Amino acid sequence: MFERFDRPVRCGAGHLFTTIWVPLASAKAVRLGDHRFQRCPVGRHWTSVWPLDPANADPAELAQAAQVHDIRIP
Ligand SMILES: [Zn+2]
Repeated sequence: MFERFDRPVRCGAGHLFTTIWVPLASAKAVRLGDHRFQRCPVGRHWTSVWPLDPANADPAELAQAAQVHDIRIP
């Protein structure tokens, strides 16, 4: 369902999408501990996002997050 560094996340406005969450290195977002600041492809706004825990998240939310992926870095 998700590739190695893909993580389902929830933005500050409640949007669900998938983004690339690379440990220790990220060229596209500002890391702020357990969340980070980046552009949300759903609401098309800048926001803080938090990763969903696939083990505890609602399966319906994970499915929704899997449907939207932000732009990949080659
Ligand atoms: Zn959003």
